[in-house]
Amino acid sequence: MKTNQQAVNRVVLIGGGSVGISYAFALMNQGVTEELAIIDLDADKALGDVMDLNHGKAFAPSLTNVWLGEYEDCREADIVCICAGANQKPGETRLDLVEKNMNIFKEIVADVMNSGFNGIFLIATNPVDVLTQAVITFSGLPPHRVIGSGTTLDTARLRYELGEYFHLSPKNIHAYIIGEHGDTELPLWSTATIGTVPLLTYLKRSESYKKEDLDDIFINVRDAAYRIIQKKGATFYGIAMSLVRVTEAILKDEHSILTTSTFLQGEYDVNNVCIGVPTIINRNGVCEIIEVPMNEEEQKKFNHSVQTLQGIYEPAMQAIHV
Ligand code: NAD
Repeated sequence: MKTNQQAVNRVVLIGGGSVGISYAFALMNQGVTEELAIIDLDADKALGDVMDLNHGKAFAPSLTNVWLGEYEDCREADIVCICAGANQKPGETRLDLVEKNMNIFKEIVADVMNSGFNGIFLIATNPVDVLTQAVITFSGLPPHRVIGSGTTLDTARLRYELGEYFHLSPKNIHAYIIGEHGDTELPLWSTATIGTVPLLTYLKRSESYKKEDLDDIFINVRDAAYRIIQKKGATFYGIAMSLVRVTEAILKDEHSILTTSTFLQGEYDVNNVCIGVPTIINRNGVCEIIEVPMNEEEQKKFNHSVQTLQGIYEPAMQAIHV
């Protein structure tokens, strides 16, 4: 693996669809990596995207070399980000996609590992928690080097919604969504803060703030993808920026706290499941899992989310004969 002293960072993107190319565009605009290779089943469409992205190079904050990738490019990659696979159709849950995308992942991960890849996997494809765990199994890499986008997007959505509610910058909202990136996720209200003030105390600043409103805000966040998919067929900008945020935290060795999907091995008294929890992300991937204190209700909901994911993973692996 490269050290952070080595200047040239390489990201290989596998799956240049709506999410993947939005990620590529955001990576370029933020100047996060020097090299970006794009691989897609539809090589012609991917080449079109490569050409289009390169035409913006003159206006980017720093130069990113973008090219049509091959699996061999993964050998020198710091990060392989997988956005390939089927997405949700209106009415489908993320868990409905499991078998289809597991089969796609089995082949992709084998091709990446055959290149001699020795970096970090970043996974966006849904159901992201289940697929992150599958990548750990398929790749044989240590779990800290396989990171799912988890509830980074859901947390960003929550910070946006709370920012709107309190007329504050989302940057000052320290509230997290954890659990499955999906229907069983939960907000951690009991430890959320607005600036330095506990959220539940901040609510007392004005009679127009009501604790019940938090429930509506959370439901809006949890169901945001369904509403967006109904309107425009897919969600991609928010996840793309979440993926860039994780990429940056890795490449810059930031030690930033992000709610990624991570393999639990005893943390939260849970074993053998990938799920969204606050993690410290650095150049080595997940450097530490933060165990947040939860109240009884939060703990109950988190346990339910864990059980939901555990109930999906094993049968799906058996269905694809692993
Ligand atoms: P899309 O259909 O636009 O793109 C998928 C791309 O994957 C296509 O370009 C397709 O050619 C490519 N592909 C399929 N199989 C491949 C293979 N074997 N090798 C290489 N490329 C392959 O879909 P999208 O809207 O970009 O969504 C991609 C995934 O991201 C979906 O699973 C979606 O649910 C997920 N997603 C995740 C989040 C999150 O928060 N984690 C948010 C939004 C979407």
